[in-house]
Amino acid sequence: MKAIERIYIDGQWHAVDGPRLEVHDSATGQVMASIPGAGAAEVDQAVKAARRAFASWSRTPVQERKAYLAAMLEQLKNRSGEIAETVSREVGMPIKLSGMIQAGMPQVTTGNYVKLLDEFPFTEEVGNSVIQHAPVGVVGAITPWNYPLHQIMLKVAPALAAGCTVVLKPSEIAPLTAFILAEICEAIELPPGVVNVVSGVGQDVGEALINHPQVNMISFTGSTRTGHRIAHAAAEDFKRLALEMGGKSASIILSDADLEAAVKGTINNCYLNSGQTCTALTRMLVPAELHDQACEIAAAVAAKFAPGNPLEETTRLGPLASSMQRDKVREYIRIGQEEGAKLVAGGAEAPEGLDQGYFVKATVFGNVDPASRIGQEEIFGPVLSIMSYRDEDDAVEIANGTPYGLSGAVWSDDRDRALDVAGRMRTGQVFVNNGKFNPWAPFGGFGHSGLGREAGKFGLEEFLEPRAIQL
Ligand code: NAD
Repeated sequence: MKAIERIYIDGQWHAVDGPRLEVHDSATGQVMASIPGAGAAEVDQAVKAARRAFASWSRTPVQERKAYLAAMLEQLKNRSGEIAETVSREVGMPIKLSGMIQAGMPQVTTGNYVKLLDEFPFTEEVGNSVIQHAPVGVVGAITPWNYPLHQIMLKVAPALAAGCTVVLKPSEIAPLTAFILAEICEAIELPPGVVNVVSGVGQDVGEALINHPQVNMISFTGSTRTGHRIAHAAAEDFKRLALEMGGKSASIILSDADLEAAVKGTINNCYLNSGQTCTALTRMLVPAELHDQACEIAAAVAAKFAPGNPLEETTRLGPLASSMQRDKVREYIRIGQEEGAKLVAGGAEAPEGLDQGYFVKATVFGNVDPASRIGQEEIFGPVLSIMSYRDEDDAVEIANGTPYGLSGAVWSDDRDRALDVAGRMRTGQVFVNNGKFNPWAPFGGFGHSGLGREAGKFGLEEFLEPRAIQL
């Protein structure tokens, strides 16, 4: 078991006089590490350090910030094996995918900002005005557990690129890669106070950060419930806000789609990271006359997702990140049955031979009422809901019929038809057929899924305030 004793503030490691928090191995339920539980005093120290550092960091030449980000990227590459294994154990993602996504995406994001710093127009002219894009200031970054380092770098890399300084509060459920990042900041000799890492629970560290008067912006990824609380706190002194929250994304399979490929593609997406993905396509919408056939295909595809040890190369479905999450997902499966949906695959009981750890069976429901709880609420586990629609208008109405609006998909043989339906979906992104994830494209949501966008130049702009100088 790894015991992390100190947090990282102002370029120094500080002991914390607070409770110890345990981090659990998702596959065994055993304690794999412990971290300090900090509080308001440490947040205040970290924010003050970030404020001091902002004075000089905000004025560093762009090429200097680029050099630090490039050095950070090198270190992330060097430590990618360790990062992949750590997140596989914390969160449950199978190791092969974890290498590509949990360790790979932070590198992609950091690399993108290294490139962007060469081209981004920090100064431009509009008529008789010079427009300067100035850094927002001290950023409080609050992150969840499902893609822990990816979500951290989607904030830290653009914030540093913009000239902001950061106080990071990682999720207490999967915090270990945040400490790897702190070690990297130390190794590359990032100036003290530019990045500070304060671990602890939301009630203590999170609340202190969102209420701190010297924090200029909160960049948050997590549940809609916490986002709501943060928006209220930020309103108190008009902090800038970026919120990335939950989803209940719909995959619309049109009548002319390759049904087999569409069902398979939807399930692969839905079960990624055991369904612990904010953009997961958890609602599959099919023409009523194809419903039963879609259920049959879905059951066969789900059968290939046998839960297993995430550290084994061949595993396709790992456990969930915590016992709380496992119990919540199993409860939703029971709710689905009570609501009268048809259980097509999986179920609420523990998978055979896996009663330790946080495993849930790959589950599919057919005949799901779009207005039911499993049709409306974010489950965050390997659970797919299949719903029937009458015609395209009905499909779009069902797709748009939740408070969320994060992602979606359309499957069709006809590109124009697919684009038309995609354009009617009230979501931040839509995948057509097997459209590839694009790390330069804006990432974020409509409605209760979020405010603002991450990634690429859109993510950088979130950390900048335009200033107009009239000449
Ligand atoms: P969560 O809201 O419980 O926690 C997220 C972070 O907020 C954690 O660091 C937590 O400690 C902190 N927090 C909790 N209460 C707080 C408070 N009162 N004040 C300040 N901070 C507080 O979410 P989670 O369970 O860690 O993550 C899962 C959720 O994240 C899902 O709903 C998922 O959809 C969402 N998510 C969204 C995206 C996206 O980009 N849209 C990406 C990943 C996850």
